[in-house]
Amino acid sequence: MDAALRHDQPHAASRRALALLLLGPPGAGKGTQSHAISRKFGIPEISTGEMLREAVRAKTELGNQVKSIMESGELVPDPLVCALVEQRLSQPDCAQGFILDGFPRNLEQARFLDQWLRSQCRFEPLALNIQVDPNLLIKRLTGRRMCPRCRTIYNIYFNSPQKDEICDKDGSPLAQRRDDSEAAIRTRLQEYEAQTKPLLDYYRDSGFLREVDGDPDPPAVTSAILGLLEPS
Ligand code: AMP
Repeated sequence: MDAALRHDQPHAASRRALALLLLGPPGAGKGTQSHAISRKFGIPEISTGEMLREAVRAKTELGNQVKSIMESGELVPDPLVCALVEQRLSQPDCAQGFILDGFPRNLEQARFLDQWLRSQCRFEPLALNIQVDPNLLIKRLTGRRMCPRCRTIYNIYFNSPQKDEICDKDGSPLAQRRDDSEAAIRTRLQEYEAQTKPLLDYYRDSGFLREVDGDPDPPAVTSAILGLLEPS
């Protein structure tokens, strides 16, 4: 990591604008935690996976380019994702801080982000490694269902709807993400091991990394994260 971004002191959320990076394998609960922290701190949550899925739904040029890559569980090429992130981080609502869910995913993207953060001079990066038991990960991914209309997330093992496969809120039939198929899950976990896991050392060496146990219920994980973020 760039020397200008090195920081070995405990994080104090109030000092500079928080650039919170949520690391951890698919199914670790990054989306859920990002949502909770975003509400608590009033800073935007930026999910590259969600932005890319939106592009696919809207059938934009980018969406058409990445659709089959995403369905297979592989990573979208860096230039496409980095351009998307740079555009989003340049929006005024990110000036007071932001949460990145699913970016960076490899060293190339981490270096790109470092450079961007350095060029802005006002952000305090903090990377959280949300660790989850591998068996639990598989259940979280294979059991995940989403309401296509209101986007409420369920899990058939841990948080099932009252009626099988039907949204409690609006009665829509629930859907499974295409990349939550068994084959795609395998590829996503392999991509995580090969490309994203090395980032842990990268951020650990810089002093930016904090570890979070992602096994407990989401509210307990949120409390643990808030404990790391609140200035002591
Ligand atoms: P996620 O919702 O974070 O699990 O991402 C779903 C899919 O979107 C991934 O399997 C990739 O195909 C793609 N994707 C999301 N974020 C990135 C990223 N930072 N770099 C490359 N591909 C990404």
